[in-house]
Amino acid sequence: MELLKQKILDCGRALDEHVLLVDSFLNNQVDVKLMQEVGREFARRFADAGITRIVTIESSGIAPAAMAALEMDLPLVILKKSKSSILKDGILQTEVFSFTKNAPYMLTLKPQFVNPGDKVLLIDDFLANGEAALGASSLLERAGAQVAGIGIVIAKTFQPGLKKLQEAGYRVEILAPVKRMAENLIEFE
Ligand code: 5GP
Repeated sequence: MELLKQKILDCGRALDEHVLLVDSFLNNQVDVKLMQEVGREFARRFADAGITRIVTIESSGIAPAAMAALEMDLPLVILKKSKSSILKDGILQTEVFSFTKNAPYMLTLKPQFVNPGDKVLLIDDFLANGEAALGASSLLERAGAQVAGIGIVIAKTFQPGLKKLQEAGYRVEILAPVKRMAENLIEFE
């Protein structure tokens, strides 16, 4: 998606070879017009997938996922991040290792917001090692839903996540695939 790639080049900053900062339009401040285009692009790419629900992970997945949900006229469900496991009936949790915080957290789904048989489009802001997407997929599958697609705004394709998701059989669509980074250098596939 050229508009997004240009925005990353104009406003993003590679901190080092591993971490990309996009706080001015995705993580801290949100360019909602750009997110609207992102939502449209996800809707276009997954138009044939029979999606019945959009699911994302708080907090930076919410803006692009909400725009996709609006465009596709579908409900949006948010997976929350908890510091510890919550002992509550009717809650599904799995441990995920956070790429940015370098610490584990409990990804949490309230399964009453997903129907068995739902065809879910999972949307997240970044893909790195695939921990968040694989954890989210396992929760959705435990709730009886099918992960029919995974939409990623920015994937660092040199990190292992993409391969892991593809090997697990998921259909992954990436709007901005970054193949290499260094301090102040960003290269797309
Ligand atoms: P993964 O679970 O695939 O290792 O990492 C994905 C999650 O970590 C995303 O939900 C995102 O919040 C965060 N993340 C991974 N890499 C980056 C990055 O380079 N920049 C930012 N801002 N967040 C990242």
